[in-house]
Amino acid sequence: MGRIRILSDNVANKIAAGEVVERPASVVKELLENSLDAGATEIRVDTENAGRRLIRIQDDGCGMLRDDAMLAFERHATSKLSDVKDLLAIATLGFRGEALPSIASVSRLVLETRSDEEQTGARVEIAGGKMLKCDEIARPRGTTISVRDLFFNVPARKKFLRSDQTELAHIGSLMTHYSLGHANKRFELYHEGRELLNVSPVESLRERAFQVFGSEIMQDLIDVRTRTFEVRLPPPYVPPHIRASAEQPPAEPDVTEFALEGLISGPHVQKLNRNSIFLFVNGRLIRDKVLLHALSAAYHNLMPVGCYPFALLFLNCDPSEVDVNVHPSKTEVRFRHGSAVHDAVRDAVREMLMESRPVSNIPLPASPVAQRRTEPPLVQRAAALPFSEYSAISEMEEAPVSELPAETQGGALPVVEVVTPVVPTQSWPAAAPAPVTVATTTMRRIPDTHGGLDGLPSDWERVDSLEALRDLRPLGQLHDSFIVAAGRDGLWIIDQHVAHERILFEQVLRQRAAGNVEIQQLLMPIVLQLTPGQEFEYARIAEELNAYGFETEPFGQRTIAIKSSPAGVGPGDIEKIVFEILEIAESEFRAASLEEIRRSVCATIACRAAIKINMRLEPKKIDWLLRALSACEYPMTCPHGRPIALRYSTKDILKSFHRI
Ligand code: ADP
Ligand code: MG
Repeated sequence: MGRIRILSDNVANKIAAGEVVERPASVVKELLENSLDAGATEIRVDTENAGRRLIRIQDDGCGMLRDDAMLAFERHATSKLSDVKDLLAIATLGFRGEALPSIASVSRLVLETRSDEEQTGARVEIAGGKMLKCDEIARPRGTTISVRDLFFNVPARKKFLRSDQTELAHIGSLMTHYSLGHANKRFELYHEGRELLNVSPVESLRERAFQVFGSEIMQDLIDVRTRTFEVRLPPPYVPPHIRASAEQPPAEPDVTEFALEGLISGPHVQKLNRNSIFLFVNGRLIRDKVLLHALSAAYHNLMPVGCYPFALLFLNCDPSEVDVNVHPSKTEVRFRHGSAVHDAVRDAVREMLMESRPVSNIPLPASPVAQRRTEPPLVQRAAALPFSEYSAISEMEEAPVSELPAETQGGALPVVEVVTPVVPTQSWPAAAPAPVTVATTTMRRIPDTHGGLDGLPSDWERVDSLEALRDLRPLGQLHDSFIVAAGRDGLWIIDQHVAHERILFEQVLRQRAAGNVEIQQLLMPIVLQLTPGQEFEYARIAEELNAYGFETEPFGQRTIAIKSSPAGVGPGDIEKIVFEILEIAESEFRAASLEEIRRSVCATIACRAAIKINMRLEPKKIDWLLRALSACEYPMTCPHGRPIALRYSTKDILKSFHRI
């Protein structure tokens, strides 16, 4: 007798469960996706013991026919796909027909459901993959699925589960993330009767983001208005696993349309990881390298390296444009026209950033009341959790219990404190005196006895910061480093070095693009000794160096002579710049696009050539600097992401003096 046997369905289901169901949150994910696919508008999830004892999901979706209720537990039973061609254009979240049988094979599951087409509903009971009962029941339209004692028959899997806090936080994070993708639906999450999330349907993404993240972040967010872009590109892409069996690929459209919308933060919101980036492709929350890279590229030279923005982006396109059948948990996708999508998303986000150009406000010292640390609601903290695959246990770092805030210990609040830290880039110097605000809460405000301000423009609260920058009146220089200026919208302080850096950066970038970088010939060539690594990089980028005005030639073994440099660069800096560029080449050339490398090189040249701090400036030079800055495309942050200007807005000044 041969040694190969066909596995029983029960064993096959358990193997599939290994991929699809790794933790309670992955059960919630699958059931939630089913409810959304069923067109539910209200979804409620109840959990006990962090989902180990019970996960119950109720929806008001289309429900199932009685026969289907039993069929749904067969392996590869799905109503969402009938032909292999359908795989090329999946419009639903599910399609593999694996979730229900997998979950049912590792738990005790009860399904209750009724569709509009039938008078009575069905109740199906299954334990460890074995069908126990199937009854007729009366119930409203929709579906309720209860999953009890998860992994009761797979003790090894149970051991991999983390603490209650972690498991519940994953469920919370998952529900919150999905709620962001469906603002028009209600999502409720309860743990042992306690409400953890309850968001009612709202009309806009902004409102849903407010429900989830609270008011604090909202003021920093820029709307990415719905914009569509077209991609025209052959050749037809057929995923490799289908290529063999598909009879005919669908006719290739000449052009295909993508729509992008969402919310992004300005460059001053700087997170240390990607946990605040939420990407949805056709309503599916995904992690995608192409889109993540496009987003980073949009913020390139606006934000320090290693910092990330907040972003909530929805990309919608024809389902045939994305292959979602890449991973069993369906969190990865593959675009047919990846690089075109990448560039379009990068450009769209960058355009929005350019358009909004928010100026950094000088933060007012918080009043004593506001300073008291208020605990962000659960949903905010859950939303800050990393979006892993909800199954990859190894990716999840578990906070030791002792590090959890007191109120989350002992099971009171089921949250792991993974709040994304924000780099305090724009804080007013630490020594800023705050006497005014200490009195804020105790002093009576009598604004009118002190008179109102004359000469305020009628629209003083709505002055556009770019316009204000254009007609700043310089008052002087602080510590020979910062330009102080009066603006229509308040008092401005400008860092002279980074301002000049931005001006030069844009200038060099423009000149480089036009191929006419201004150069200066050196009286004496500068001779540089290179390491073998540098020599290798030099050979690759000599031409690029030349395009920036660094005319070089080999000069003996591992030695080069520099004969010219971009105009404005001091002789002492030339050597440093060339070495820095060689370093960029070494670290970035292989991975980055030419555009990114050029930006990095321009940033290096600009930084070296810019006026320094601790330098007294003539009034004329200050005037020139402000004018040149206001003519910049992005005058608010330097190419390394630091803010250029701080503004003490008229409103804050009036507030601080208790005049409003
Ligand atoms: P898939 O979602 O990949 O089709 P599942 O195993 O998750 O596979 O579900 C199997 C089928 O059960 C679905 O195709 C759908 O027809 C039905 N189903 C599951 N959950 C629901 C629900 N909440 N409401 C209506 N139908 C459902
Ligand atoms: Mg499903």
